[in-house]
Amino acid sequence: MSQHAPPADALGAGHVLRLDAVTKHYESPGGLVRALDGVSLALDGGSFTAVMGPSGSGKSTLLQCAAGLDSPSSGRVFVDGTEMSGGSEAQLTTFRRGRIGFVFQHFNLLPTLTVLQNTTLPVRLAGKRVNRAQAVETLNRVGLGDRLDHLPSQLSGGQQQRVAIARALVAGPRVVFADEPTGALDTRSAREVLALLQEAVRIDGRTLVMVTHDPVAAAHADQVLFLADGRLVGRLDRPTAVTVADTMTRLTDQVAADRRVSEGV
Ligand code: ADP
Repeated sequence: MSQHAPPADALGAGHVLRLDAVTKHYESPGGLVRALDGVSLALDGGSFTAVMGPSGSGKSTLLQCAAGLDSPSSGRVFVDGTEMSGGSEAQLTTFRRGRIGFVFQHFNLLPTLTVLQNTTLPVRLAGKRVNRAQAVETLNRVGLGDRLDHLPSQLSGGQQQRVAIARALVAGPRVVFADEPTGALDTRSAREVLALLQEAVRIDGRTLVMVTHDPVAAAHADQVLFLADGRLVGRLDRPTAVTVADTMTRLTDQVAADRRVSEGV
């Protein structure tokens, strides 16, 4: 870093999440795979962003790198103005636990822990004191205040995802990442889960980044970012299911046409 460069903290200031020219390459038997190819974005606090793109376009890699679960090959990620890379693995884990929440497609609850224990697990792993009242309040908000001692196997898929949302929110994270959070749910449960995620943004001011392939889910966001071949290729503000589906169709056709050209077909 040059002597005159601003401190890392100042670079990401003003945005809750910022990516600067993030690339991620994987070695594979077929050669180098560019899963992300220079992605830059900046998200304000209290915003809801959906990320869409054809299969293999880099959505999961983007989420993993932005959330500090994987490190970029190059480029920088800032959460709350602090650069995520650079420290030790232990420092990164502490940083993540304090500021980031996750919701996964398949819930990732621990089967032997109760609803309440699953919800408070990240707090306990972070070595902090569990505020039971706060955890119960969070579970009340997701409609599971009467299921505190149930095991995940005693709940429906939609209920399990609501536990996962409570777990993601209980420590008051700045950013919540959700990877296909409605992908394993029926339509009604999906609607409930999306309403809860939206509430976390609108009422609590969380910043939410959600990967989805579902235009109806994406329409709940403030903006949709479209990825193709590891690059951001489009953005839609105030999306509706129809405009999202149209854009995805155009994008998929374009990607197929580009591949035909590059393969000389
Ligand atoms: P998406 O989530 O949009 O389906 P991914 O982020 O999973 O896309 O993958 C983007 C590209 O990176 C794909 O070509 C995928 O095969 C490749 N990829 C992802 N993870 C790995 C890995 N661990 N090793 C090698 N290639 C990978």
